Amino acid sequence: MRIGFAGLGAIGTPMAERLATTHQLTVWNRTGATAERFAAAHPGVAVARTPRELAASGEAVVTCLPTSAEVAALLEGPDGLLAGLEDGMILVDCTSGDPASSRQIAATLTQAGVAFVDAPVSGGPPLARTGQLTVMCGGHEADVVRAAAIVAPFAAKVVRMGPVGSGHAMKAVNNALLAVHIAALAEGMVTLAKAGIAPRAAVEVLNASSGRSFVSEALVPDRVLTGAWPKLFRLALLEKDIGIAESLARELDIEAPVLAYLRDRYRDFRADLGEDADYLDPIRAAEVAAGVELRG
Ligand code: NDP
Repeated sequence: MRIGFAGLGAIGTPMAERLATTHQLTVWNRTGATAERFAAAHPGVAVARTPRELAASGEAVVTCLPTSAEVAALLEGPDGLLAGLEDGMILVDCTSGDPASSRQIAATLTQAGVAFVDAPVSGGPPLARTGQLTVMCGGHEADVVRAAAIVAPFAAKVVRMGPVGSGHAMKAVNNALLAVHIAALAEGMVTLAKAGIAPRAAVEVLNASSGRSFVSEALVPDRVLTGAWPKLFRLALLEKDIGIAESLARELDIEAPVLAYLRDRYRDFRADLGEDADYLDPIRAAEVAAGVELRG
């Protein structure tokens, strides 16, 4: 298929790389030099000068931007996506966005005869590179089937969660749970370290016990015990996801004090650690505050 891809960020880049293995790909990025570099490194990939040109280049567009606000903005104006999208096309939005904005975007696109699927991903850049992301979709069944064929090069699992917005709801709650584990593990691990327990032994026992999580099993051994601390997912984006989950719970009249606390806690982390901090940096901040290091 001829696909246009917008958003060559930390995860968008490996996703686009996988798309280019199967589809005829055109890319657009806000910072144009990134798109030029990507095309130079991937023969056969074209560069669009505007979102409109991107939309006009293919049968479908895939977006992967920070929030739904940037996706909505990309549609607008004489050079926006909407100006280039045609009746029968589909927009697959892999942004971890918010359900209400997605419903609005879908309504706008419907008027132009364009289908919309929210299709956020899980697995991070390493699994994007190997084509093993999980993609959680919201949209009409037939549209999700179309989206599944488009994202297949980077997806191991594509699941339809329900109507438009459901993929984003699923992703926000998933990431809120991830955030719980990071914040709680930071406190627990520095407590153990200060109590004189070797971090590697603590992680070994945790991972053979009931307190284990994806954070303790996959992230801490690779990135914390080694001291590698790669920057793969911005803390600011995780904070945004928690906000989406907490707002959704509030809209639905769910009592969710844990989500409310988590939102405030991560707002503080974001304010303290900055826009470029990685999502595991709260663990590093806990180390500094406690005066210990969690190294193997
Ligand atoms: P990055 O911050 O690394 O990249 C963001 C991308 O969006 C860049 O291409 C950036 O362009 C572009 N962008 C930013 N602002 C605008 C704008 N106003 N208009 C147009 N383009 C814009 O983010 P990620 O790639 O990490 O994340 C993208 C989405 O995927 C987010 O919703 C995130 O929550 C989600 N996600 C990320 C994961 C990860 O591990 N990184 C995992 C799963 C989901 P420019 O180059 O010009 O800055």
